[in-house]
Amino acid sequence: MKCVNCNKSKSKLYTCEECNQKFCSNCGDTQREWCDTCLQFEQTQKDNESIDT
Ligand SMILES: [Zn+2]
Ligand SMILES: [Zn+2]
Repeated sequence: MKCVNCNKSKSKLYTCEECNQKFCSNCGDTQREWCDTCLQFEQTQKDNESIDT
């Protein structure tokens, strides 16, 4: 199996709960099962929220 984020073959891949993309332990949060893309998106949204309030 190959991680689409870093293009490296990994024995263990996780599926992102948010976008269903496969990612390896280097490319996301394996505890929450979120890929880096979704983690960054969430962080951006949080930043925007804190600006609004
Ligand atoms: Zn990866
Ligand atoms: Zn994701």
